[in-house]
Amino acid sequence: MATKYVFVTGGVTSSLGKGIIAASLAKLLQARGLKVTIQKFDPYINVDPGTLNPYEHGECYVTEDGAETDLDLGHYERFLGIYTSKASNVTTGKVYQTVIDKERAGTYRGKTVQVIPHITDEIKRRMLLLGKGRKFDIVITEIGGTVGDIESLPFIEAVRQVQWRLPEEDCAVIHLTLVPYLAAAKELKTKPTQHSVRQLQQEGVNPDIIVCRTEKPLPLALRRKVALFCNVRPYAVIEAIDQKSIYEVPLNLQRQNLDGIVLNLLKLDNTIEPNLDAWKCFIDRINNPSKQIDVALVGKYVELQDAYKSILEAFIHAGAANHTRVRVHPIQSERIHEENVKELLAGMKGIVVAPGFGSRGADGKILASRYAREQKIPFLGICLGMQMAILDFARNVADIPEADTTEFVPETEHPVIDLMEKEKEMMGMNNTMRLGAYQSKISRGTLAYKVYGKQTVRERHRHRYELNDKYIPALVKAGLKISAKNPRTGFVEIVELPDHPFFIGVQFHPELKSTPEKPAPLFTSFVEAALAYRGTKIAGIKSL
Ligand code: GLN
Repeated sequence: MATKYVFVTGGVTSSLGKGIIAASLAKLLQARGLKVTIQKFDPYINVDPGTLNPYEHGECYVTEDGAETDLDLGHYERFLGIYTSKASNVTTGKVYQTVIDKERAGTYRGKTVQVIPHITDEIKRRMLLLGKGRKFDIVITEIGGTVGDIESLPFIEAVRQVQWRLPEEDCAVIHLTLVPYLAAAKELKTKPTQHSVRQLQQEGVNPDIIVCRTEKPLPLALRRKVALFCNVRPYAVIEAIDQKSIYEVPLNLQRQNLDGIVLNLLKLDNTIEPNLDAWKCFIDRINNPSKQIDVALVGKYVELQDAYKSILEAFIHAGAANHTRVRVHPIQSERIHEENVKELLAGMKGIVVAPGFGSRGADGKILASRYAREQKIPFLGICLGMQMAILDFARNVADIPEADTTEFVPETEHPVIDLMEKEKEMMGMNNTMRLGAYQSKISRGTLAYKVYGKQTVRERHRHRYELNDKYIPALVKAGLKISAKNPRTGFVEIVELPDHPFFIGVQFHPELKSTPEKPAPLFTSFVEAALAYRGTKIAGIKSL
C-alpha cells in the first residue's frame, strides 16, 4: 500500500487548535491499527523555534534526536505515543536555507532560483519525506498559519501540487475554520468559513473535509449551508465544539466519524473499529479524580500557559495515574522575596522550579527551592530549576556564599554551574547547547532509582550549563547526593537530598516524554510524594 497523505490547513484565525485536531485524527487512525505520523510546516522565517521567546511562541519542544520544534509536536507525541524527529518540523527558514545552500553550491546550474518551482519543490520534498520507505501508512501534515497569509502561500501551493501529482485516493485535505457565535445576534456565523474556504480554493486547493471550531452546537441546517457554499458533502462538515480537555477531542471527532470519512477518501479499510480503551480509561480518571492537590510551578513565563505546556500536560498524566486532580499554580518567580515566600507558597503540597534561560527571576527560584528544602515540601527542579536548587544548597548549606552560574555572572569566583570544557570540545564554541536524548546512569539505593526502577534512562536535554565537577566534593560533603551521571561525559544528571522526603533536581526535561499512557515516572512519583506530604499534614492536624 502506498503511503497516504492528509493535509490540515487553517482559516479565519490562528490558535484554533489545528495541532490538536491533527493529533486527534492521527490518534483515531492509529487506534484502527494504522501506522501514522504527523509533521508540522511553519511558514515563519526562523530556522527553528529554538531562538523564539516563549512569550511569542510558547514552549520549545525538543525531540529525541535534538530538534528544537513547535509545541504542537509535543501534542503529536503525547497523543500517539511515538517519537517525532528533526524531519517532523519544517519552517520557511529551513526550506530557504536548503535552497540557498544548493544555489551557492551551484546545484541549479545557473538557473534563476524562484519560489516556484524551487522553494515549492523543496517543500514538497520535505512533505513526502516521512512517507519514504513505507514506514508509515499515513502521514498527516499540519500547515501552520492561516490561509490567506502571504507566508503560507508557497505551502498551500505545494499542497496543491502534491494533490495534483498523487493519485486521488492517496491524498486528503482537511480545513479547520472558526464559526463564531455573535452574542448580540444570538447566531452562529458561517461567513468567515465561507471566505476562508474560498481563499483556499483560489489558491488551488479544494478541501475534502471542513472542521468547524465552535462554542455552540452547529445545527444541521448550518452544516448544510457550509457544505453547499464550500463545495463539500454535508457529512464532511464536522463540528469541533469546545471540550473539557484536549484529550476528549478524538472522541468527539470519532462520534462524527471523521476517521471513517478520511479512510473512505483514502480508499482504506474502515471496518476495523478503533481501540481506544486505554485512552478512555485515562479520560475517565481525569474526569473522576478521588483526590486533589495543589502544587506550585515557579517560573518566569507563567503568564502564558503555553510556555510550560509539557509540564502542565505531564501533571495531567501523573495526576490521572494517581487518581488525583493536580492543580498547578503558576507563580511568577520575580514576585518571590524573603518576606513573602511563605505566603506565596502557602498550601502547596509540592514545588516545581521550572526550566528557563537568563537571570530574571532567578532569586525567586532560589528562594522557592530553599523553602522546599527547609520545609521538607516535595520538590522537583527541572533544568534551570535544578541549577537554582544547587545554588541554594551551595550558598546556604555547603558554605559557598558566592556560588553562582556563569550564565548569570560570567566572572563569578565560584562557578558552581558552568560550561564544561568537555562540552565545549564536543560541540564547538558556537554551539554548546546540549539537545536531545542522552543517557543517565542512576546509582542504586537513590530516590531516583526508586522513581525509575532501573539504572539506565534516556531523557531529553536543552541546556548549556552543567554542575561544575570541581564543586562536587564540597557539595557531597555537605549532604547533596549525586544520583545519576551521563555515563559518557560524567555530567551530573540528577541530584537529590537524602534527608528530605522528596527533593530531586534533574538536568533534563522529564516532561517531554510524558504521555497519557506512559506518564513520566518523576512526575508520578512527585505527585505521590505530594499526596503523602498532604497525608502527613492532615495526619499531623488530626493528632493535635
Ligand atoms: N539556562 C540553563 C542552561 O542553559 C538551563 C536551561 C533550561 O532550563 N532548559 O543550562
